Amino acid sequence: MADRALKIIPSVKSENWQEILSDLITDPKELLHILRLDINKKPVSLSAISQFSLKVPRPFVEAMQQGNWSDPLLLQIWPSEEEEINLNEYTSDPLHEVEFNPVKGLLHKYQARVLLTAAPHCAIHCRYCFRRHFDYKSNTPSREDWSNSLDYIKADPSIQEVILSGGDPLAISDRQLLWLIQELESISHLKILRIHSRVPIVLPQRITPELVAILNESRFEVVIVVHCNHSQEISDNVKTAIEALRLSKITLLNQSVILAGINDEPGILKELSHTLFSLSILPYYLHLPDKVIGTSHFSVTSDKAIRVINSLRKELPGYLVPILVQEEPGASSKTRLV
Ligand SMILES: *Cc1c(COP(=O)(O)O)cnc(C)c1O
Ligand code: SF4
Repeated sequence: MADRALKIIPSVKSENWQEILSDLITDPKELLHILRLDINKKPVSLSAISQFSLKVPRPFVEAMQQGNWSDPLLLQIWPSEEEEINLNEYTSDPLHEVEFNPVKGLLHKYQARVLLTAAPHCAIHCRYCFRRHFDYKSNTPSREDWSNSLDYIKADPSIQEVILSGGDPLAISDRQLLWLIQELESISHLKILRIHSRVPIVLPQRITPELVAILNESRFEVVIVVHCNHSQEISDNVKTAIEALRLSKITLLNQSVILAGINDEPGILKELSHTLFSLSILPYYLHLPDKVIGTSHFSVTSDKAIRVINSLRKELPGYLVPILVQEEPGASSKTRLV
């Protein structure tokens, strides 16, 4: 089995994405300089940065409009002073994930599927992220934790699907990913491998032929759920990456978060659905943001989100309308709002 890795690795391209990952923009001044924006117009929040650093790949910045503070991509990553607003119902773990964490790195919340936090980091820091306060450091699985997770899955034949989530599972190396997939493949009751990742959108250079081969050669049904919130995120490089994935056997879905001032209008989500569909990606979930401290400025009321969805239903075929969901701690699945 290990031969598979040797056959497909060395690649110049894979250095390319790792170079981008090691040269992320983390300095707000540099970001604003590139975007020709004046920091005096909209001060950065240093306390926001100290909680959850600024982190954005350069190719994602290239898809932003210069001189536009309201750019929908910039708003998703800008550590704004609004993050300092403290509201009572906002907490650091609104989903009570700690309770569903039987083994480090594994969440077993819903029947038949478990979620593995396969990577301790992401390629980007999205300010609305519900795991922004998640303690990745103490949840970074060691080899021993991995073997506990694998034992947990082995011992429960009702588990059919493993969801790799994060952090971002595609932020790890091909070698680590291949190791993990092969370990999972040896568990015979597993059928589906699902990868939730924002990397195809924010770091499309990561979708190398080697990565596609690893996924394509797996015995699993492979599903990739990309996380795209706005059609402006779909650059030419993203299109190329998705092209490579759609030529394989992988099923492609998208999930978005509905975010105030970014994509909470039917027109924007309609365009997003059409753009994704032109790349063979079907919409899956539209999440209402979770009430995580520091994210209240992204909040959209459920009434508004329902209105947006109803308006999409009028204008789009059913298969282009995402399911509006919210996560409630203790529920046996994600909760549908309409
Ligand atoms: C969202 C989620 C899943 C997957 O739910 P689906 O409805 O199958 O997409 C599984 N486990 C956890 C912990 C989740 O948050
Ligand atoms: S890529 Fe996903 S997990 Fe990572 S910061 Fe963004 S929303 Fe959070």
